[in-house]
Amino acid sequence: MALLITDECINCDVCEPECPNQAISMGEDFYQIDPARCTECVGHFDEPQCVQVCPVECIPVDPAHTESQETLWQKYQRLQKAGQPLSSAGEASTPPPAAV
Ligand code: SF4
Ligand code: SF4
Repeated sequence: MALLITDECINCDVCEPECPNQAISMGEDFYQIDPARCTECVGHFDEPQCVQVCPVECIPVDPAHTESQETLWQKYQRLQKAGQPLSSAGEASTPPPAAV
């Protein structure tokens, strides 16, 4: 699933640089996540990095964008092919195990 930033966001700027997919940007009133770029950090990290750093816990999963692990992995691969350079540390080289 892609994640979603709610209006509880305090615009603290912490999450934006943590996103490996450049999916987070400033919206009209608070930060927003581009669901086309959010892989829930699949392919980069075990946990969503934005959720890890957000001080007010305002980043739930987006019910409008439910995706399987495999779909998230395919999105990750598409983003890589689109020109985003592979990062170094912690980079996964094989697909994650299928969700049970
Ligand atoms: S879950 Fe990961 S990919 Fe999605 S917005 Fe947060 S940091 Fe970016
Ligand atoms: S870390 Fe949380 S509160 Fe800070 S800008 Fe991101 S979503 Fe908003």
